[in-house]
Amino acid sequence: MNQVKKILNRIYKYGKDSFYEEVKKALKNKEKKFIITVNPEIMMNDDDVVQKMLNDKNVSLVPDGISIVKAARNLGIDIKERITGVDLADELLNIANNCHYSLYLLGAKKEVVKTLAQKIESDYPNINLLGFQDGYGNDKDKDMEKIIKLKPDIVLIALGVPMQEKLIYKHFNKAKKGIFIGVGGTFDCLSGSKKRAPKIFIKLNLE
Ligand code: UDP
Repeated sequence: MNQVKKILNRIYKYGKDSFYEEVKKALKNKEKKFIITVNPEIMMNDDDVVQKMLNDKNVSLVPDGISIVKAARNLGIDIKERITGVDLADELLNIANNCHYSLYLLGAKKEVVKTLAQKIESDYPNINLLGFQDGYGNDKDKDMEKIIKLKPDIVLIALGVPMQEKLIYKHFNKAKKGIFIGVGGTFDCLSGSKKRAPKIFIKLNLE
């Protein structure tokens, strides 16, 4: 219980807009940031590495699920609102387009990530898309090493929880800069392969 409270206490409390400002600042200053969108699935995972990264001060945690927000409130920790992987990915694309940042996409099925890459190239013309790679091929450690050498400003990784977070955590120390975030099924949504729930469901936290 104490351990759960400790992690809930580390989760970002001040809402989306304020978190986006922090991300913008990190990008502007060429800092590096590993963001985990925390849901019950990852919090309750008893893998040692997962627990280590949830407690690591160099890792930023944001509240993905409404159950995280509610659990925190029950323990007297006031978290303003949820910040989902889709929200963050969407915002990062807008920031990247506005500020001409570079991007790399890793994960999802070949046709999904390719469709998303094409969509980004047409809808976000100022993003410098350095490359993309599906999540089912070869050696993911090699993929990460290649990505880190390219020094992208933003790296979105869609391999599912907790594979994506563990992969980032394993390589993050080698990165000089960049926002690294695991975004789960987001590529499927953003590419149009899978639809998000209607807005009213999202608003009512029923998604
Ligand atoms: N995925 C992948 N490689 C794998 C397993 C999964 O690239 O070996 C992708 C999958 O195609 C999907 C994403 O990871 O795009 C996981 O989505 P899901 O919604 O299952 O993950 P969650 O958001 O629940 O972590």
